[in-house]
Amino acid sequence: MHYLSTRNDKLRETFTNILFQGLSREGGLFLPVEWPNIDINTLRDKSYKEVALHIMRPFVGGDLKDDNLYEIISSSYDDFRHPKIAPLVNVDSNKYILELFYGPTFSFKDYALQFLGNLFEHLVRTSKKQITVLGATSGDTGSAAIEAFKGKKDIKVFILHPYNKVSDIQRRQMTTVTDSNIFNIAVEGTFDDCQKTVKDLFVDQEIQKKTSLTAINSINWSRIMAQAVYYFWSYLQTEKDKISFIVPSGNFGNIFSARVAKHMGLPIDRLHISTNQNDILHRIISQGQMTMNKVEHTFSPSMDIQVASNFERQLFEIFNNNSNSIVDVMREFQNNKSYTLSNSIISVLQEIYSSASVSDELTLTTIKLFNDKYKYLADPHTATGLSLLDQYSSDHPLVSLACAHPAKFGSAIEKAIGEPPSFPKELENIFDKEEKMTILEKNTNLIKSHILELL
Ligand SMILES: *Cc1c(COP(=O)(O)O)cnc(C)c1O
Repeated sequence: MHYLSTRNDKLRETFTNILFQGLSREGGLFLPVEWPNIDINTLRDKSYKEVALHIMRPFVGGDLKDDNLYEIISSSYDDFRHPKIAPLVNVDSNKYILELFYGPTFSFKDYALQFLGNLFEHLVRTSKKQITVLGATSGDTGSAAIEAFKGKKDIKVFILHPYNKVSDIQRRQMTTVTDSNIFNIAVEGTFDDCQKTVKDLFVDQEIQKKTSLTAINSINWSRIMAQAVYYFWSYLQTEKDKISFIVPSGNFGNIFSARVAKHMGLPIDRLHISTNQNDILHRIISQGQMTMNKVEHTFSPSMDIQVASNFERQLFEIFNNNSNSIVDVMREFQNNKSYTLSNSIISVLQEIYSSASVSDELTLTTIKLFNDKYKYLADPHTATGLSLLDQYSSDHPLVSLACAHPAKFGSAIEKAIGEPPSFPKELENIFDKEEKMTILEKNTNLIKSHILELL
């Protein structure tokens, strides 16, 4: 399998080359040159790990032997806390919830990042190089990455988070990991300041000379690929002829994985996007309006995003895989902070997706509704999707994704139902552990010298 970039459709790169690069040289996102077709009948009665092997193998191509790939997959999901890895819960006729919080950090980010951690470890070991993972987080990605890479040889991990602006649990999930290859930097600023520093360091010659920097944010193709697995997995558990999904969305990563599954032959009928008050995706799908607003802080912080980076992959597809068009669109979007899609493009988008924006208020009443009506306690991200699951009726299975465990967002839960969620034992003792982090001013040069000292 070869890969092109959304900003260079002539490019032909191997899987291992794009894995460590993150963005292409032109600033585009990687996509496979063609979509492999999966015969779903070959997946019946297989375990989650076996399904994962079948879905991911064609994308990895000849870069890894099947045995090695299966070993990497297997060790990634061994410690998940549910025998089905991603169980499907039937709440009402044709209405289902796909639970994706059984990994070590209790959000769906673990499903891709655990795999990525083991894949990187394998490739670093066989290539004898050293890599440095650098990322900024506003919530769940940081802890999932730290859990995935802790203790891995020849891989150092630097995660920047905004000081005092992530939840207690989210911070402790990062700072209580004391392995010597993990470095938490709390930046006295916002998430955008962290993100800006990370972007500057990725093009910094001095750092690049000392190590090879690797990005693990959600635009990394392997994360998209690993997430496609659970869409097939949920279909296999319903045994109907088609399926639709509701996906709480921020950076358009998870929902694009569903689109990938459809390209590979999964009979998906509709893809419904739920956003919180940060509704850029809803405005794009419903009106073709790509306009950046100011980020609002909501009860679902992992969806507090105004630039959905992965949407560029979908744009590339609807502009007939023409990278020149994408370069023009993205240039105009950057310059004017706005771009309007044509009516014909909007109708193509609407054949695939529908969307809705869910307010903080509706999020809380939905948490209460599902708790009362179905005895189902959902986290606020999940609840944006459940508000649609409640409203819609469907003649075939409609699956809404549960993106995180409610215990991660205790204060929103308490507001919704009047009492805090109960804590799984793995999260409970996090309050007794020692924390390790370095607090630094929002100054790229300062953060850079700190990192250089530790490399
Ligand atoms: C990351 C995240 C999302 C948003 O997913 P995208 O892939 O960015 O669209 C939603 N909910 C939770 C809990 C998350 O951690």
